[in-house]
Amino acid sequence: MIIRTIAGDIAPEKLGRTNYHEHAFQVSPLLPGDELTSKEKSGNEFLRLAKSGFDSYVDATPIGLGRRPDLIAEIANRSGLQVIHATGVHKEAHYANGQKITQLEVDQLAKLFAYELQTGILLDDSTLLINEANTSAIKAGFIKFGISDAPLSAFENRALQASAVVSAKTGAAIMIHTDSASEIFPTLDLLEESGANLARVVVAHIDRRPDSRFHAEIAARGAYLGYDGAGRSKYFADEVLVELFANLVELGFGANVLFGADVARSSRYVEYGGAPGLEYLGNTFLPKLRARTSDEIVEKTLTTNPANWLAFNP
Ligand SMILES: [Zn+2]
Repeated sequence: MIIRTIAGDIAPEKLGRTNYHEHAFQVSPLLPGDELTSKEKSGNEFLRLAKSGFDSYVDATPIGLGRRPDLIAEIANRSGLQVIHATGVHKEAHYANGQKITQLEVDQLAKLFAYELQTGILLDDSTLLINEANTSAIKAGFIKFGISDAPLSAFENRALQASAVVSAKTGAAIMIHTDSASEIFPTLDLLEESGANLARVVVAHIDRRPDSRFHAEIAARGAYLGYDGAGRSKYFADEVLVELFANLVELGFGANVLFGADVARSSRYVEYGGAPGLEYLGNTFLPKLRARTSDEIVEKTLTTNPANWLAFNP
C-alpha cells in the first residue's frame, strides 16, 4: 500500500498529521473575487498551515478550477508539507462557463482520471489534451466529484460513474463534494452499483449538517465523514462541531472522521488579507477538540484515518 503525493509514493506511516481538504490554487465562477492565484501568498499561507502542526494536506482543487500543477511543488517545498492532489471534477455549477469537461462521456472521464492518477496531471486542463506536452510531472493521489442538493445532473452522474470505475480499478480514494448532503444516500447507492467500495469514499462538508445519527448512518456504510467547518460561524460554532465529533467517537465511528478546513477563499486567507486563515484549525480548533476528547483520539484522527482513506495499491 502507498499514498501518492505530488513528490512520489510514500508509505502510509510517513503521512503524518494530515489536513484532508484545502486548496492552494482555485478559480471558480461561483467565487468571484475570491481567487487563489498567487504563488507567493499561497506559499506563505501553507507555511502557516505547516507551522500550526501539519505534515501533509490534501489539495481538493479538481479539473478546470485553476489547478497549478506547475506551481504546487513550490508550495510543498516552501512549507515542507506533503501534498496529495485531486483529479476529478466539481459539481456542475462550477462549470457554468460551459467548459469542455462537462461534455465528456463516462469512458472519457474515466480515461482522464486514470491518466492523471497514473501518468500525470494535465498542465492545461481547459484543452483536456492527453499528450506528453500537456502532462505535468505530478500525479494525482485521489479522485473527486461533486453533487449539490438537487438530484444529480447528467454530468454529475457521469462523473460519479467514472470515479467509481477508476476507484474500483486502481483502488484510489474518492472525495464527494456536497452542499448539505440531501442527496447523499442515493449517491452512495449509485456509487456501490457502479462498483465502488464505500470504504474508499469521504463525504466532504458533511458537518454543515451536524446531526450525529445522520453521520452514523453514513459511517455505518463504510464511508468517511469530512469535517471542515471549523472557524466558520456562518454555518455552526466550533462547539457544535466539537460535540458532533465527541458523539461520533462515542457511537464507535471515530475511525471514520477526517479533519480539514476547506478555507478555500482569498477573503479567508491571512496572506491575501483575510481571516481566519489556514492556521485556525491547528491553533484554535484542535485544542478545543483535544480538551473535549483526548490527545490520543485527536492524534489518531489526524494521522491514521487519512492514511487509511488515502492508501491504495496502484
Ligand atoms: Zn473545497
